[in-house]
Amino acid sequence: MSTEPSIFERIVAREIPADIVFENDRVIALRDIAPKAPVHLLVVPKTAQYANVTELAAGDPALLAEIVGVAQQLADQHSDGQYRLVFNTGPQAGQTVFHVHAHLLGGALPEGSLGLQ
Ligand code: 5GP
Repeated sequence: MSTEPSIFERIVAREIPADIVFENDRVIALRDIAPKAPVHLLVVPKTAQYANVTELAAGDPALLAEIVGVAQQLADQHSDGQYRLVFNTGPQAGQTVFHVHAHLLGGALPEGSLGLQ
């Protein structure tokens, strides 16, 4: 496991700027720097303890449930209450940041498209 702080830890610490749309004591949400949908937010637990959603589900299921709840709240505010939630898990699935995060995608997504592109 890397000892370097993840990009999301650095955003939580305000070491690098981000467009933060939600924050509480356990969760932060921000606009993705390279959006792949009209609404593309990242919903992130502040702890860097969990590299992916499998680890989070096993280690702190209540925190995973909170991520989903925040996603719905943000979809209500930024989209039409409907959304796609994606957890890339592993490099071959497109994961680049190994600090678990949900991609919240919304805004008239085309039917039958599951990928981000
Ligand atoms: P992953 O590829 O791990 O599933 O998702 C990482 C996401 O973080 C990517 O969609 C990428 O665009 C986003 N990202 C990477 N660096 C930054 C950054 O510095 N700021 C923001 N807002 N998003 C970032």
